[in-house]
Amino acid sequence: MAYLVTGEPGGPSLGALVGALSAALERAGFEPATGDAPPALVLNVIDAERPRPFRRGSRGTFVTALHALDAPPLDPLREGYPMLVRALANVSLTYVPGWGVWFTTLERGSYLVPETGDAAALADAVVARLAPLARSRLVIDNEFRPDLEPELWDGDEITDSISAAGRRLDELGLLPAPFPLEELVDEHDLRHIKRLYGIGGLSYGNLSARKDETRFWMSASGVDKSKLETPGRDILLVSGYDEPAGRIVVSVRPELEPRRVSVDAIEHWKIYQDHPDVGAIVHVHAWVDGVPATEMNYPCGTDELARDVADLLAAEPDPAHAVVGLRNHGITATGGSLEEILGRIAPQLLIQVPMA
Ligand SMILES: [Zn+2]
Repeated sequence: MAYLVTGEPGGPSLGALVGALSAALERAGFEPATGDAPPALVLNVIDAERPRPFRRGSRGTFVTALHALDAPPLDPLREGYPMLVRALANVSLTYVPGWGVWFTTLERGSYLVPETGDAAALADAVVARLAPLARSRLVIDNEFRPDLEPELWDGDEITDSISAAGRRLDELGLLPAPFPLEELVDEHDLRHIKRLYGIGGLSYGNLSARKDETRFWMSASGVDKSKLETPGRDILLVSGYDEPAGRIVVSVRPELEPRRVSVDAIEHWKIYQDHPDVGAIVHVHAWVDGVPATEMNYPCGTDELARDVADLLAAEPDPAHAVVGLRNHGITATGGSLEEILGRIAPQLLIQVPMA
């Protein structure tokens, strides 16, 4: 796998870190990019005042935006997130000499890789967090098939339960005002972000409920979950997974323009396949104390995140009524119905996800 360093020169301390990161990447099996093949990983060194985006030619390229601060950020997420968005990166890295490197992810995770030894040790620790993310595989493309049965064109009692659960999430205060993407980037870059991540805004979490043995209804991507109104557009019927092509198959109405299904459809697909007793799934950016949690902060919509969550669930005493944590991100809960899940977890929900 190839890596590329690009962007601004940065100051001496940032320069030293970039050198150490390059060496650490090579120890981890990456090679400097040559020729025309798109790199797997890009370190884009940015100026925090005017972050210049790296525009990848391929979705397979994982871009980090790296900048330095003299002192630790007061609110790492609030400061790191705009960098991430404006630089069109997958992850923002904020280096504070003597402290370490703060990671900020698209899922609004923020955590510190502390500086405990020399530059090489810090670089190795950063690469250990970064390389698995760069190697992960996004499964966010949709294949729309106009084969939704006419009797489902206006939805059913399941799509009603999804609309109701979306309103309930809002009442519970679980649909936080997202970072206003359109204030951070222009129209052109917004389109780039939507194409790259398959999002139409920032993730609010998602909801799904089983239709039958193989199919489930799921909320669309980038839509306000308190306003899931039109089945076939805001709530989509996932009817398959084309694994070789990495595409989620969605059954739609012939004449209605569908939104894309939530990027986490792959995670829900795996859970419904593995556990026939699961009737519904809720994913929110909140936390429940004491739940088992994933180790690695894989991006939403990756095969790896889906696998980690499915594995954690499978290890639960009752996978069909369980809550598992996605570290620095949120929780995924299973149950018989959305109403049952929300009734069960609402009293335990912590609105703030602990960052570790
Ligand atoms: Zn999420």
